[in-house]
Amino acid sequence: MKACKICFRSVDEGVSLREYLFYDDIICGNCRHKFIENKKTYSYHNLRITAFYLYDDFLESLLFQYKEARDIALADVFLWKKKEEVFDIFRHSACILMPSSEQKIKERGFHHLERMLECCHVEPISCFEKKDGYKQSTQRASERGKIKEVIKLKYPIEKDFILFDDVITSGNTLLSTASLLKDSNQIVKAVALSVHPLFVELCEKERL
Ligand SMILES: [Zn+2]
Repeated sequence: MKACKICFRSVDEGVSLREYLFYDDIICGNCRHKFIENKKTYSYHNLRITAFYLYDDFLESLLFQYKEARDIALADVFLWKKKEEVFDIFRHSACILMPSSEQKIKERGFHHLERMLECCHVEPISCFEKKDGYKQSTQRASERGKIKEVIKLKYPIEKDFILFDDVITSGNTLLSTASLLKDSNQIVKAVALSVHPLFVELCEKERL
């Protein structure tokens, strides 16, 4: 029996007859159906954003298990159903990971974004570093604009690029990061595993 990487039951659990013939997933149907697809793309200032899933309690706890409890066996679970799409997206552009604290990566023992992309055969570039001890959620909104002061570009990027992150919450980090890389009016693309409901709400309100 092939076991689901999330609930450890058989991967056949919760798989419909229609899905069964072509089922090549590493998690069971019950767990896969908990991923809520996001069909929308967003245009946030000069940033085009694609996000595959909606960030909800299920994805939050799964990411926590992966990143904070260091459950590396979950790495392929997130983008497994999107691997061909992700490969195509990055075929002609450099994939740039959103900055993470080097201290956190060292503690964790792996780079969560880099490892997540492995099943898609995408080799990302990690050209930023974030000063340790900085956490966006602890900063007041008015201070978030200062993120540039805590991100450093290790070397310049000379080809087309697309940013990659796991969750888009405010979009501010993406914008500031993009502005460190791009020429003035260049349209920058970003791809994320998921999008936070607050960001969806903001885009709906501002019709972005
Ligand atoms: Zn399962």
